[in-house]
Amino acid sequence: MSPKSAVNITDDQPQQVKTNLLGFSASRLGDFMEGIGEKRFRATQVIKWIHQMGECDLHEMSNLSKDLRAKLAEVAEVKLPEVVSCQDSVDGTRKWLIRVDGGSCIEMVYIPERDRGTLCVSSQIGCALDCSFCATGKQGFNRDLTAAEIIGQLWIAANSFEQFAPKAKRRVTNVVMMGMGEPLMNFDNVVDAMSIMLEDNAYGLSKRRVTLSTAGVVPQLDKLGDVSDVSLAISLHAPNDELRNQLVPINRKYPLAQFIESAKNYIEKMPDNRRKVTVEYTLMDQINDRSVHARELAVLLKDLPCKVNLIPFNAFPGSDYKRVTNTALDRFRDILMAEGYTVTVRTTRGDDIAAACGQLAGEVNDRTKRQARYKKRLSEVQTLNITD
Ligand code: SF4
Repeated sequence: MSPKSAVNITDDQPQQVKTNLLGFSASRLGDFMEGIGEKRFRATQVIKWIHQMGECDLHEMSNLSKDLRAKLAEVAEVKLPEVVSCQDSVDGTRKWLIRVDGGSCIEMVYIPERDRGTLCVSSQIGCALDCSFCATGKQGFNRDLTAAEIIGQLWIAANSFEQFAPKAKRRVTNVVMMGMGEPLMNFDNVVDAMSIMLEDNAYGLSKRRVTLSTAGVVPQLDKLGDVSDVSLAISLHAPNDELRNQLVPINRKYPLAQFIESAKNYIEKMPDNRRKVTVEYTLMDQINDRSVHARELAVLLKDLPCKVNLIPFNAFPGSDYKRVTNTALDRFRDILMAEGYTVTVRTTRGDDIAAACGQLAGEVNDRTKRQARYKKRLSEVQTLNITD
Protein backbone atom coordinates (compact mmCIF):
# COMPACT_ATOMS: atom_id res chain seq x y z
CA MET A 1 0.00 0.00 0.00
CA SER A 2 1.42 3.39 -0.95
CA PRO A 3 1.77 6.09 1.73
CA LYS A 4 -0.76 8.17 -0.23
CA SER A 5 -3.48 5.52 -0.15
CA ALA A 6 -2.80 4.96 3.56
CA VAL A 7 -3.50 8.68 4.15
CA ASN A 8 -6.71 8.44 2.13
CA ILE A 9 -8.00 5.55 4.17
CA THR A 10 -7.36 7.50 7.40
CA ASP A 11 -9.09 10.58 5.96
CA ASP A 12 -12.19 8.57 5.10
CA GLN A 13 -12.57 7.14 8.57
CA PRO A 14 -15.02 8.97 10.80
CA GLN A 15 -13.33 10.81 13.65
CA GLN A 16 -13.85 8.96 16.91
CA VAL A 17 -15.84 11.04 19.37
CA LYS A 18 -13.96 11.04 22.64
CA THR A 19 -15.69 10.80 26.00
CA ASN A 20 -15.46 14.01 27.99
CA LEU A 21 -14.43 13.09 31.53
CA LEU A 22 -14.98 16.59 32.94
CA GLY A 23 -18.59 15.95 34.01
CA PHE A 24 -18.09 12.41 35.32
CA SER A 25 -18.90 11.90 38.99
CA ALA A 26 -16.69 9.51 40.97
CA SER A 27 -19.04 6.58 40.40
CA ARG A 28 -19.46 7.24 36.65
CA LEU A 29 -15.73 7.61 36.23
CA GLY A 30 -15.24 4.35 38.14
CA ASP A 31 -17.65 2.63 35.73
CA PHE A 32 -15.78 4.16 32.80
CA MET A 33 -12.44 2.87 34.09
CA GLU A 34 -13.84 -0.62 34.51
CA GLY A 35 -15.33 -0.38 31.04
CA ILE A 36 -11.87 0.11 29.54
CA GLY A 37 -10.43 -2.73 31.64
CA GLU A 38 -8.83 -0.61 34.40
CA LYS A 39 -9.21 -0.65 38.17
CA ARG A 40 -11.92 1.57 39.68
CA PHE A 41 -9.50 3.42 41.95
CA ARG A 42 -7.94 5.06 38.88
CA ALA A 43 -11.05 7.24 38.83
CA THR A 44 -9.99 8.87 42.10
CA GLN A 45 -6.61 9.79 40.64
CA VAL A 46 -8.16 11.28 37.50
CA ILE A 47 -10.82 13.25 39.43
CA LYS A 48 -8.13 14.74 41.67
CA TRP A 49 -6.09 15.79 38.65
CA ILE A 50 -9.03 17.48 36.97
CA HIS A 51 -10.84 19.10 39.87
CA GLN A 52 -8.17 19.60 42.55
CA MET A 53 -5.14 20.32 40.43
CA GLY A 54 -6.88 21.81 37.39
CA GLU A 55 -5.05 19.51 34.97
CA CYS A 56 -7.00 18.81 31.79
CA ASP A 57 -4.22 17.18 29.74
CA LEU A 58 -4.44 13.43 30.27
CA HIS A 59 -0.78 13.04 29.25
CA GLU A 60 0.28 15.23 32.21
CA MET A 61 -1.38 13.07 34.88
CA SER A 62 1.95 11.84 36.10
CA ASN A 63 0.89 9.31 38.72
CA LEU A 64 -0.79 7.24 35.99
CA SER A 65 1.44 4.95 33.96
CA LYS A 66 2.42 6.18 30.51
CA ASP A 67 0.50 3.30 28.97
CA LEU A 68 -2.67 4.19 30.82
CA ARG A 69 -2.35 7.86 29.90
CA ALA A 70 -1.98 6.92 26.23
CA LYS A 71 -4.90 4.48 26.44
CA LEU A 72 -7.10 7.11 28.08
CA ALA A 73 -6.15 9.81 25.60
CA GLU A 74 -7.25 7.56 22.73
CA VAL A 75 -10.82 7.35 23.96
CA ALA A 76 -11.27 10.26 26.33
CA GLU A 77 -10.52 13.92 26.89
CA VAL A 78 -11.17 16.70 29.36
CA LYS A 79 -12.94 19.41 27.42
CA LEU A 80 -13.94 22.72 28.97
CA PRO A 81 -16.45 25.27 27.76
CA GLU A 82 -14.79 28.34 26.24
CA VAL A 83 -14.52 31.63 28.13
CA VAL A 84 -15.55 34.42 25.75
CA SER A 85 -15.18 37.30 28.17
CA CYS A 86 -14.75 38.11 31.83
CA GLN A 87 -15.84 41.42 33.37
CA ASP A 88 -15.13 42.79 36.82
CA SER A 89 -17.55 45.09 38.62
CA VAL A 90 -16.36 47.93 40.83
CA ASP A 91 -17.75 45.99 43.81
CA GLY A 92 -15.61 42.91 43.08
CA THR A 93 -18.35 40.89 41.37
CA ARG A 94 -17.03 39.01 38.34
CA LYS A 95 -19.12 37.89 35.36
CA TRP A 96 -18.10 35.43 32.65
CA LEU A 97 -19.65 34.87 29.25
CA ILE A 98 -19.06 31.23 28.38
CA ARG A 99 -19.59 29.58 24.99
CA VAL A 100 -20.88 26.02 24.99
CA ASP A 101 -21.17 23.49 22.14
CA GLY A 102 -23.61 24.70 19.52
CA GLY A 103 -22.54 28.36 19.75
CA SER A 104 -24.84 29.69 22.49
CA CYS A 105 -23.35 31.49 25.47
CA ILE A 106 -24.28 31.32 29.12
CA GLU A 107 -23.39 33.67 31.94
CA MET A 108 -21.90 32.92 35.32
CA VAL A 109 -21.32 35.30 38.23
CA TYR A 110 -19.00 35.31 41.25
CA ILE A 111 -19.99 37.44 44.24
CA PRO A 112 -17.34 38.02 46.92
CA GLU A 113 -18.51 38.82 50.43
CA ARG A 114 -16.69 39.28 53.72
CA ASP A 115 -17.06 35.68 54.84
CA ARG A 116 -17.62 33.82 51.56
CA GLY A 117 -17.31 33.78 47.78
CA THR A 118 -20.44 32.62 45.98
CA LEU A 119 -20.54 31.35 42.42
CA CYS A 120 -23.91 31.56 40.67
CA VAL A 121 -23.95 28.75 38.11
CA SER A 122 -26.23 28.22 35.08
CA SER A 123 -27.97 24.91 34.37
CA GLN A 124 -29.60 25.54 30.98
CA ILE A 125 -29.10 27.69 27.89
CA GLY A 126 -31.95 30.13 28.47
CA CYS A 127 -34.99 28.93 30.35
CA ALA A 128 -38.32 27.48 29.25
CA LEU A 129 -40.27 28.68 32.29
CA ASP A 130 -40.61 32.33 31.20
CA CYS A 131 -41.12 34.06 34.53
CA SER A 132 -42.42 37.50 33.64
CA PHE A 133 -39.78 39.46 35.60
CA CYS A 134 -36.69 37.53 34.48
CA ALA A 135 -34.20 38.52 31.76
CA THR A 136 -33.19 34.89 31.19
CA GLY A 137 -36.79 33.92 30.49
CA LYS A 138 -36.97 36.55 27.73
CA GLN A 139 -34.04 34.89 25.95
CA GLY A 140 -36.08 31.78 25.22
CA PHE A 141 -34.59 28.32 25.50
CA ASN A 142 -32.04 26.28 23.61
CA ARG A 143 -31.12 23.15 25.57
CA ASP A 144 -30.01 21.68 28.88
CA LEU A 145 -26.35 22.03 29.79
CA THR A 146 -24.39 18.80 30.12
CA ALA A 147 -22.89 17.88 33.51
CA ALA A 148 -19.49 18.84 32.02
CA GLU A 149 -20.77 22.28 31.06
CA ILE A 150 -22.19 22.81 34.56
CA ILE A 151 -19.14 21.66 36.54
CA GLY A 152 -16.95 23.32 33.90
CA GLN A 153 -18.23 26.66 35.20
CA LEU A 154 -16.85 25.92 38.66
CA TRP A 155 -13.57 24.75 37.12
CA ILE A 156 -13.30 28.00 35.14
CA ALA A 157 -13.94 30.16 38.22
CA ALA A 158 -11.50 28.18 40.38
CA ASN A 159 -8.87 28.46 37.66
CA SER A 160 -9.49 32.16 37.26
CA PHE A 161 -8.79 32.66 40.98
CA GLU A 162 -5.73 30.39 40.81
CA GLN A 163 -7.43 28.14 43.31
CA PHE A 164 -5.75 25.02 41.85
CA ALA A 165 -2.28 26.11 42.96
CA PRO A 166 -0.89 24.14 45.94
CA LYS A 167 -2.05 25.63 49.26
CA ALA A 168 -4.07 28.29 47.44
CA LYS A 169 -6.87 29.99 49.33
CA ARG A 170 -10.29 28.77 48.29
CA ARG A 171 -12.05 31.73 46.75
CA VAL A 172 -15.22 29.91 45.67
CA THR A 173 -16.68 28.72 48.97
CA ASN A 174 -20.34 28.47 47.93
CA VAL A 175 -22.21 27.53 44.78
CA VAL A 176 -25.80 28.46 44.03
CA MET A 177 -27.65 26.87 41.13
CA MET A 178 -29.43 30.16 40.44
CA GLY A 179 -27.97 31.29 37.13
CA MET A 180 -29.67 30.80 33.77
CA GLY A 181 -32.22 27.99 33.69
CA GLU A 182 -34.37 25.92 36.01
CA PRO A 183 -32.04 23.28 37.53
CA LEU A 184 -34.75 20.71 38.17
CA MET A 185 -35.69 20.69 34.47
CA ASN A 186 -32.17 19.32 33.89
CA PHE A 187 -32.29 16.89 36.78
CA ASP A 188 -29.69 14.20 36.01
CA ASN A 189 -26.96 16.55 34.79
CA VAL A 190 -27.45 18.94 37.70
CA VAL A 191 -27.36 16.09 40.24
CA ASP A 192 -24.17 14.70 38.65
CA ALA A 193 -22.49 18.12 38.62
CA MET A 194 -23.49 18.82 42.24
CA SER A 195 -22.06 15.46 43.31
CA ILE A 196 -18.68 16.54 41.89
CA MET A 197 -18.95 19.82 43.82
CA LEU A 198 -19.45 17.82 47.04
CA GLU A 199 -16.93 15.05 46.24
CA ASP A 200 -13.95 15.09 48.65
CA ASN A 201 -11.55 14.24 45.83
CA ALA A 202 -12.88 17.11 43.73
CA TYR A 203 -14.07 20.45 45.20
CA GLY A 204 -15.13 19.07 48.61
CA LEU A 205 -17.81 21.70 49.25
CA SER A 206 -20.15 21.07 52.14
CA LYS A 207 -23.78 20.27 51.30
CA ARG A 208 -24.77 23.42 53.16
CA ARG A 209 -22.67 25.49 50.78
CA VAL A 210 -24.26 24.15 47.59
CA THR A 211 -27.76 25.45 47.00
CA LEU A 212 -30.27 24.44 44.37
CA SER A 213 -32.92 27.02 43.62
CA THR A 214 -36.17 26.02 41.96
CA ALA A 215 -39.25 27.86 40.71
CA GLY A 216 -41.39 24.85 41.60
CA VAL A 217 -40.96 21.77 39.42
CA VAL A 218 -42.68 19.68 42.06
CA PRO A 219 -42.26 16.09 40.75
CA GLN A 220 -38.50 16.60 40.40
CA LEU A 221 -38.25 18.29 43.79
CA ASP A 222 -40.00 15.25 45.27
CA LYS A 223 -37.28 13.09 43.68
CA LEU A 224 -34.35 15.29 44.67
CA GLY A 225 -34.37 14.35 48.34
CA ASP A 226 -33.76 10.70 47.40
CA VAL A 227 -30.49 11.47 45.62
CA SER A 228 -29.12 14.68 47.12
CA ASP A 229 -29.09 16.67 50.34
CA VAL A 230 -27.86 20.06 49.16
CA SER A 231 -29.46 23.24 50.49
CA LEU A 232 -32.74 24.26 48.93
CA ALA A 233 -34.01 27.68 47.85
CA ILE A 234 -37.50 28.16 46.48
CA SER A 235 -38.29 31.07 44.17
CA LEU A 236 -41.70 32.16 45.40
CA HIS A 237 -42.15 35.85 44.47
CA ALA A 238 -45.87 35.86 45.29
CA PRO A 239 -47.98 34.87 48.32
CA ASN A 240 -51.04 33.59 46.44
CA ASP A 241 -51.78 31.55 43.33
CA GLU A 242 -53.55 34.31 41.46
CA LEU A 243 -50.51 36.59 41.48
CA ARG A 244 -47.97 33.80 41.16
CA ASN A 245 -49.74 32.44 38.07
CA GLN A 246 -48.88 35.74 36.39
CA LEU A 247 -45.31 36.05 37.62
CA VAL A 248 -44.18 32.42 37.58
CA PRO A 249 -46.27 30.54 35.00
CA ILE A 250 -45.24 27.07 36.19
CA ASN A 251 -47.45 27.82 39.20
CA ARG A 252 -50.47 27.06 37.00
CA LYS A 253 -49.25 23.47 36.85
CA TYR A 254 -47.92 23.14 40.39
CA PRO A 255 -49.71 25.62 42.66
CA LEU A 256 -48.24 27.07 45.83
CA ALA A 257 -49.69 24.56 48.28
CA GLN A 258 -48.09 21.66 46.38
CA PHE A 259 -44.79 23.51 46.04
CA ILE A 260 -44.55 24.39 49.73
CA GLU A 261 -45.49 20.84 50.73
CA SER A 262 -42.82 19.41 48.44
CA ALA A 263 -40.16 21.79 49.87
CA LYS A 264 -41.18 20.76 53.38
CA ASN A 265 -40.89 17.08 52.47
CA TYR A 266 -37.45 17.73 51.00
CA ILE A 267 -35.96 19.11 54.17
CA GLU A 268 -37.74 16.53 56.31
CA LYS A 269 -35.77 13.88 54.43
CA MET A 270 -32.49 15.47 55.52
CA PRO A 271 -30.61 13.58 58.23
CA ASP A 272 -30.20 16.69 60.42
CA ASN A 273 -33.46 18.41 61.28
CA ARG A 274 -32.02 21.91 61.65
CA ARG A 275 -32.03 22.67 57.95
CA LYS A 276 -34.13 25.53 56.59
CA VAL A 277 -35.41 26.33 53.14
CA THR A 278 -34.49 29.75 51.76
CA VAL A 279 -37.53 31.50 50.33
CA GLU A 280 -36.56 33.90 47.53
CA TYR A 281 -38.99 36.76 47.03
CA THR A 282 -38.24 39.41 44.38
CA LEU A 283 -39.99 42.63 45.30
CA MET A 284 -41.47 44.70 42.50
CA ASP A 285 -43.04 48.10 42.95
CA GLN A 286 -46.84 47.95 43.34
CA ILE A 287 -46.91 44.31 42.18
CA ASN A 288 -46.11 42.08 45.16
CA ASP A 289 -44.73 44.53 47.74
CA ARG A 290 -47.87 45.57 49.67
CA SER A 291 -48.44 44.96 53.37
CA VAL A 292 -51.24 42.58 52.50
CA HIS A 293 -48.76 40.48 50.49
CA ALA A 294 -46.31 40.35 53.40
CA ARG A 295 -49.07 39.24 55.78
CA GLU A 296 -50.30 36.64 53.30
CA LEU A 297 -46.73 35.34 52.89
CA ALA A 298 -46.33 35.03 56.66
CA VAL A 299 -49.42 32.81 56.80
CA LEU A 300 -48.41 30.77 53.75
CA LEU A 301 -45.00 29.89 55.21
CA LYS A 302 -46.09 29.20 58.78
CA ASP A 303 -45.43 25.44 58.65
CA LEU A 304 -42.26 25.58 56.58
CA PRO A 305 -38.91 25.83 58.42
CA CYS A 306 -37.49 28.68 56.40
CA LYS A 307 -35.77 32.03 56.19
CA VAL A 308 -36.84 34.68 53.73
CA ASN A 309 -34.52 36.44 51.33
CA LEU A 310 -36.00 39.63 49.87
CA ILE A 311 -34.55 40.68 46.52
CA PRO A 312 -35.26 44.18 45.25
CA PHE A 313 -36.10 43.74 41.55
CA ASN A 314 -33.27 44.64 39.16
CA ALA A 315 -34.50 46.20 35.94
CA PHE A 316 -33.26 45.04 32.52
CA PRO A 317 -33.98 46.53 29.07
CA GLY A 318 -37.70 46.35 28.37
CA SER A 319 -38.71 44.89 31.72
CA ASP A 320 -42.31 45.60 32.71
CA TYR A 321 -41.59 46.08 36.39
CA LYS A 322 -39.94 48.63 38.65
CA ARG A 323 -37.73 48.22 41.66
CA VAL A 324 -39.47 48.26 45.03
CA THR A 325 -39.16 51.53 46.97
CA ASN A 326 -37.07 51.52 50.13
CA THR A 327 -40.15 52.33 52.20
CA ALA A 328 -42.09 49.37 50.84
CA LEU A 329 -39.06 47.11 51.25
CA ASP A 330 -38.62 48.07 54.92
CA ARG A 331 -42.33 47.68 55.60
CA PHE A 332 -42.41 44.23 53.97
CA ARG A 333 -39.36 43.08 55.94
CA ASP A 334 -40.71 44.44 59.24
CA ILE A 335 -44.04 42.65 58.87
CA LEU A 336 -42.30 39.32 58.30
CA MET A 337 -39.89 39.88 61.16
CA ALA A 338 -42.74 40.78 63.49
CA GLU A 339 -44.23 37.38 62.59
CA GLY A 340 -40.99 35.73 63.73
CA TYR A 341 -39.26 35.11 60.41
CA THR A 342 -35.55 35.54 59.80
CA VAL A 343 -35.36 37.96 56.89
CA THR A 344 -32.38 39.04 54.82
CA VAL A 345 -32.34 41.63 52.07
CA ARG A 346 -30.10 40.83 49.12
CA THR A 347 -27.89 43.74 48.29
CA THR A 348 -27.59 44.41 44.61
CA ARG A 349 -24.16 43.40 43.33
CA GLY A 350 -22.55 43.76 39.93
CA ASP A 351 -25.17 46.21 38.70
CA ASP A 352 -22.63 48.01 36.48
CA ILE A 353 -21.89 44.82 34.53
CA ALA A 354 -25.52 43.54 34.40
CA ALA A 355 -24.63 40.71 36.76
CA ALA A 356 -27.30 41.37 39.37
CA CYS A 357 -29.93 38.82 40.24
CA GLY A 358 -32.45 38.32 37.40
CA GLN A 359 -30.30 40.12 34.84
CA LEU A 360 -28.38 37.18 33.37
CA ALA A 361 -29.06 36.86 29.67
CA GLY A 362 -26.16 35.25 27.76
CA GLU A 363 -26.55 34.63 24.03
CA VAL A 364 -29.19 32.01 23.45
CA ASN A 365 -29.84 30.43 20.06
CA ASP A 366 -33.49 30.41 20.96
CA ARG A 367 -35.54 27.44 19.77
CA THR A 368 -38.79 28.77 21.22
CA LYS A 369 -38.97 32.03 19.16
CA ARG A 370 -39.72 33.79 22.45
CA GLN A 371 -36.67 36.01 22.16
CA ALA A 372 -37.77 37.27 18.71
CA ARG A 373 -41.29 37.98 19.98
CA TYR A 374 -39.86 39.83 22.97
CA LYS A 375 -37.52 41.94 20.82
CA LYS A 376 -40.39 42.79 18.46
CA ARG A 377 -42.54 43.90 21.39
CA LEU A 378 -39.64 45.89 22.79
CA SER A 379 -39.07 47.76 19.53
CA GLU A 380 -42.84 48.47 19.26
CA VAL A 381 -42.82 49.96 22.78
CA GLN A 382 -39.74 52.06 21.93
CA THR A 383 -41.36 53.30 18.70
CA LEU A 384 -44.50 54.21 20.64
CA ASN A 385 -42.43 56.12 23.20
CA ILE A 386 -40.61 58.07 20.48
CA THR A 387 -43.93 58.90 18.73
CA ASP A 388 -45.38 60.06 22.05
S1 SF4 B 1 -36.62 33.12 37.21
FE1 SF4 B 1 -35.51 31.17 37.00
S2 SF4 B 1 -37.14 29.73 36.39
FE2 SF4 B 1 -37.97 31.78 36.01
S3 SF4 B 1 -37.46 32.23 33.84
FE3 SF4 B 1 -35.80 33.05 35.12
S4 SF4 B 1 -34.26 31.43 35.13
FE4 SF4 B 1 -36.19 30.49 34.50
